[in-house]
Formats: sequence, C-alpha cells, structure tokens
Amino acid sequence: MRYASSVTDLVGNTPLVRLNAVTAGIRATVLAKVEYFNPGGSSKDRIAASIIDAAERDGLLRPGGTIVEPTSGNTGVGLALVAQQRGYRCVFVVPDKVAEDKRAVLRAYGADVVVTPTNVEPDDPTSYYSVSDRLAREIPGAFKPNQYANPNGPASHYRSTGPEIWRDTDGRLTHFVAGVGTGGTITGTGRFLRDAAGSAVRIIGVDPVGSIYSGGPVHGYDVEGVGEDMWPEAFDPTVVDAYERVSDAESFAMARRLAREEGLLVGGSSGMAAVGALRVARDLDEHAVVVVLLPDHGRGYLSKLYDDDWMRAHGYDVPTPTPITGVNA
Ligand code: PMP
Repeated sequence: MRYASSVTDLVGNTPLVRLNAVTAGIRATVLAKVEYFNPGGSSKDRIAASIIDAAERDGLLRPGGTIVEPTSGNTGVGLALVAQQRGYRCVFVVPDKVAEDKRAVLRAYGADVVVTPTNVEPDDPTSYYSVSDRLAREIPGAFKPNQYANPNGPASHYRSTGPEIWRDTDGRLTHFVAGVGTGGTITGTGRFLRDAAGSAVRIIGVDPVGSIYSGGPVHGYDVEGVGEDMWPEAFDPTVVDAYERVSDAESFAMARRLAREEGLLVGGSSGMAAVGALRVARDLDEHAVVVVLLPDHGRGYLSKLYDDDWMRAHGYDVPTPTPITGVNA
C-alpha cells in the first residue's frame, strides 16, 4: 500500500511546470515551481514543521502550548496543520488587508484569528507585530515562532526547496527568481543553489513597489505576503544578486494571465514573481533555464484580484468582457 502516514508528510516535492503562453517571444526556458501543491496550499508549509520541531527540541514549546504568530495567512495554515496533529492551540494575528476568505481558512483549521490595522508603524501598539508580542507574553505556555527572525525558516528551504530545484533541473538552471517577504525562501533556496553552483546561478529577488528591499520610497501596496517596511533577520540580503521591482497593477494582471493562459490559479505575489522572471528571461538565450517560485494558490484572492469590481474600485484596469452574442438577442 502506498500512503502518507500523515498530511505533513505531503509537504514539499512540488512540481516544476514550463510556462508556455506568457513567455511568448522569450527563448529561455521558464519553469514555475508551483508551491500550491503543498497540502496547506503554499510554500509556508515547509517552514512550519521545521520551526515547531526546533521549538520542541529547545523546550520552547511544551505539550498543551499555544503558538502565537503574526502571519498573512499562509504561515498560519502551515503551523495549524502541524499544531493540530501535535495538540497545540494556534492564535494568529493578521493585518486587515488580508482577505476575509484567508482568515476563514485559518479558523477552519481550528485556529483563533486576531485582526489588526495594516497602515500603522511596526512599533505602534496596534500593529500586528506589537499585538502578537503582547499575546505571546500574556498567554501561558505561548510560543512565538517569529518567522521574521527564526533561522529554521530559511533552513527548511535550504533542506528542501533548493535541493528539489537542483534535482529537477539536473543542475541546469541559470536563474532563480523569487519574491521576498520574510526573505526565508530566497535566503535558504538561494544559499543552497549558491553552494551547489557558485556564480553559475543568478539569484533574483522580486519586490513590490513601496517595499524597502529594492530601494525607493516606502509606502503601502496591495500585493500580499511580500515586501517589507523593515529588514527581517531571517533574510540574508547578500544572497540576492539583483532585484526586480514590480507594481501591484503588473502583479495582479500577471496573476490573472497565469490563471487564464497557463491554468495556474495563483496569488498576487506569484504574479509579481512571474513579472520579475519574464523581465529577466527576456534578455536571455535558449540555453538559459529560469526557475520562478510561485508561493500560493489563487483561491484565497477570489474576492480581490480575481474580482473585476474589486479591481476597478482599487484603480486597476480590467479588460471589458466581450459580449456573448446571441444570449439576450
Ligand atoms: N508570497 C506569499 C503569498 C507569502 O505568504 C509569502 C510569505 N510571507 C511570500 C510570498 C514570501 O516568502 P518569504 O517570506 O519566504 O520571503
């Protein structure tokens, strides 16, 4: 019989899929690493088990304990999957820009969700960092994984994401492209690829316009899960060779194209990463192999970037649908 002994054994080993339509006119091979194949629907499943294992080992998390974390949703799902099976309670603090559907998913996994305002300074007492710190102090037996500083986040990508990409491309990739949120993905994966290939692989970080990483004025933006207004400890910026800076409008338009033209229903940060990857690939020849990591599923964004009314209300262009002739004739 072939079966997994638990759902957490299904984390990782996500497939690479060639992009065929959005790459028109590009000679390089562009491969998407589709992280929504993880059981919780995102790359964040990878870091959860690694972080909880380490906390148990270090005595930071004991039976009956509570996991408290500020998370835009995906880390919460990963942590909830693992916590559920080991008998821990979860309390997640999310900024109010996170879609209601994503909060509902966390509750469905059995977690408690606390919503905080998005556009406040990190040291404001109502910010999602401050609120999670306070809850971690006040709840007995609480453990705060702090994905922004926890070295087990990047370490899990060094152990899994990097080796998977290297194996599945037979070591032939020339560029790795990923969005930067906590920086865990690009740090762990990039370090592995650097150790395996040296300078033969270029590591490209993709950053939303308004975020701190790629320079320029820091301000709010709509794409979720990527960019920052401070430098997290989990991120080693020396891993990144270059940045591509991508606007919300470009990110959302590309996510919608990936859904309609490639059959990949992904989130806005995947659209953003793909825009970065295509910009890089445009100047390369047919020997180049560009791997772009698509972090999560698009189902959590149906009421936002996949909703034409939401898009128009937020100032984004959406093509006017072609009328279906004959229907109301
Ligand atoms: N996209 C989404 C939707 C995310 O939730 C995250 C994680 N914050 C990322 C991209 C970025 O990954 P990382 O934190 O590893 O940089």
